[in-house]
Amino acid sequence: MTGQSSIRIGLLIPEVLGTYSDAGNATVLAQRARWRAIPAEVLVINAGSTPPASLDVYLLGGGEDTAQLFAAQWLSRHAQLRHALTHRARTLAVCAGLQVLGQSMRDRSGRDHPGLGVLDISTAPGRHRAVGEIVTRCAIPGVGQLIGFENHLGITTLGPTTGCLGTVLTGTGNGTRDRTGRRTEGVLTDRVIGSYLHGPVLARNPALADHILGLVTGKELAPIELPDQAAMRQTHPDPLTVRGWLRRRPRIPQHITPPTDPGACKQAADRSGRSADARPRPSSALIVMDLVPRGL
Ligand code: GLN
Repeated sequence: MTGQSSIRIGLLIPEVLGTYSDAGNATVLAQRARWRAIPAEVLVINAGSTPPASLDVYLLGGGEDTAQLFAAQWLSRHAQLRHALTHRARTLAVCAGLQVLGQSMRDRSGRDHPGLGVLDISTAPGRHRAVGEIVTRCAIPGVGQLIGFENHLGITTLGPTTGCLGTVLTGTGNGTRDRTGRRTEGVLTDRVIGSYLHGPVLARNPALADHILGLVTGKELAPIELPDQAAMRQTHPDPLTVRGWLRRRPRIPQHITPPTDPGACKQAADRSGRSADARPRPSSALIVMDLVPRGL
C-alpha cells in the first residue's frame, strides 16, 4: 500500500476457481478496511485479461481438479504476477488455490502436474475425500481458532522449512503431520497464507482478515465489534465435543436400517437415482444437532 491511497485487492480468475464462494474473501477484506475509513478496491481479474502485478493482495479460491490445472497454467504464463506473489504482494490462497501455488499436483491417474512453484509444497490425492467442518489453532499470534468448511481430496506435504497456518483440532486439513506429530492445516510464509478452509474463511474468521489488512497497511488496526459475527462463531460446535462424539457414534445411526438384501438395495438405488452401492450414511446434520454449541 506504499505511495497510494487505497488497498488494492486482486481477485484472481474467480470464474475458474470460484466453486466454493471464496470470492467472498475479497468482499470481507474490502469492507473491513472501509469500516476503518481505509479506502479499498477489489479488481476482478478474469482469465482473458493480463493480470496487474502491482496490487497489494491477491486472492485465489477453490475449484475442481481440472479447473485448477487450467489455473496453474494460466498463472505460469504471467511472469510478473508470479514475481509479485513470490517477492512483494500478500496472497490468500484457498484449497485448489493453495495447491496450484505449490511445486506439483498429482492427479488421480498418478500423473504429476507442475504448480507455480511459489510454495515448497506438493499435493497428491488422499484415500478419502475430506468433507465437513474443520477447526484449527492458528499459528499467527492473536488470531486464535479458525473455523471453516473443507471439501478436498488432495493431501498436501510441506517442505522442511515451510510452516503451516495452523494445527488441526477437528477435520483433516493438509492430511499430513509436522515433525512433532501435530496434524497441519494450510501454509504460512512471509508472503502467502494458504488454507483448506472455505466459508469464506475471512467471513468466518475476521481476525485473519484483520491480520492480512494489518500486514498490508503496516498498522495495528482497531478492533470492530460485530454482534452477528460473534454470535455466528458462538454457534460452532466445540472441537473436543465433536471428537468425543465421533468416537462414540455408531457407524450407522440405529434408526436407519440399511437394506441387506441386494434386490432391496437395487430397488432403493433405482428409486433414489443413486448407485446400488450407496448405503445410508450418518448425515453431518445429525452431528451438529447432537452437539451443545460452545464458544471458540
Ligand atoms: N480439487 C482439489 C481437491 O479435491 C481442490 C478442491 C477445492 O478447492 N475445494 O483436492
